[in-house]
Amino acid sequence: MDLQESFRWIESERESLLARLCELSAINSGSGNLPGIARVSEVFAADLNSHSGHLEVVPSATAQRANLNGELVTESYGDMLDYRMRPAAPIQVLLVGHMDTVFPADHHFQLPEVQDGGVLKGPGVADMKGGILAMLTALQAYEAFAGSGQLGWRVILNADEETGSHGSADHLVKAAGSAHAGMIYEPGLTDGTLSRARKGSANFTLVAKGESAHAGREFHKGRNAIVALASAIDRLAAFTDSEKGLMVNVGRIQGGTALNVVPDNAVCQFNVRCWRREDQEGFLRQLQELVQDLNAHSDCRFSLHGGFSRPPKTISPANQLFMDWAVDCGRQLSEELRFADTGGCCDGNNLAAAGLPNIDTLGVQGGYIHTDQEFMLIDSLTQRAKLSLLLLDRLSRQGDELLALREQQSRAEEGLATC
Ligand SMILES: [Zn+2]
Repeated sequence: MDLQESFRWIESERESLLARLCELSAINSGSGNLPGIARVSEVFAADLNSHSGHLEVVPSATAQRANLNGELVTESYGDMLDYRMRPAAPIQVLLVGHMDTVFPADHHFQLPEVQDGGVLKGPGVADMKGGILAMLTALQAYEAFAGSGQLGWRVILNADEETGSHGSADHLVKAAGSAHAGMIYEPGLTDGTLSRARKGSANFTLVAKGESAHAGREFHKGRNAIVALASAIDRLAAFTDSEKGLMVNVGRIQGGTALNVVPDNAVCQFNVRCWRREDQEGFLRQLQELVQDLNAHSDCRFSLHGGFSRPPKTISPANQLFMDWAVDCGRQLSEELRFADTGGCCDGNNLAAAGLPNIDTLGVQGGYIHTDQEFMLIDSLTQRAKLSLLLLDRLSRQGDELLALREQQSRAEEGLATC
């Protein structure tokens, strides 16, 4: 590959990338805004279709979730794009991005703005429309300057990452099975730091059902769901174990009607985070026992909904090797890449749990994501495209080493299991 030529081409794209990113940021694609997501998807589909591969539009699965009234509601999400190039090539890489943002159509933050100091502020510029453009630019450059028949690539852009990928996780996990490595385009930190291990994350809804009664006339006949839930919440919060990094955050609560009515319904929703698979399993056991105990000893009935949609991401030897390659590639760009663990989670968690070594912050550098101050560093659009190009090239030559390490690890685990 003629590096200098490919880098010059990427640099020549800088202004057009910035203009396209501004257009994309101005299209609202908040999770659940299906027409907005479809418009963004058309832009990316046109880009992908400039290659000679095959595009499939894949409907997301629907998912059932408990709302704050304790009722199960079915949620639907936008379609995914799934593009495959050279699916028969010996080495396969899966590139993943999400088209949705956290900003709904009625949010006040809707338009991008170029600011001093090479900064672009706007909804989704960092998380992750900028990242997807960097990915697509790297693929263009790879095909134009390197395109070796050794490497096949697959791009999946989902529409529901910001709400936990409930409609796309299964599709992604299936795709992980036929890939050597995953490249995901969440933003890096402002100083360029990428994410290493990630906490797992679960959302739960705990519903307490009691018996309503007139608070004045027949108070004794009532069973107060709010009081029962309040004591359950105390016990839930006590599961937090700071030493292990296991956090239970009760984030929402609702219940009751009028003040002179004993409430028969109370609901809380909570998020759980932990570093290790063992802690996830231990917590789930504790939680089941708590619900059983509540149902045995309280005068209200409890039901629990939800689970871990993001398992913890731990770093396998193959994943470590892939990160080492990224550091090497960074040095070729005169950049010293750093990785740090994070309590946040993304599709990289699910892909890692499916056995796929991945780097999940290959997108642009930015900050204040999920707020109306979200920004990205304009230079990082082309810089990160170059980094991805180098990684693709490395994978095309050495991707087999990742697979060998994975096989070695699973043999070792099987050995342990049979001991
Ligand atoms: Zn994101």
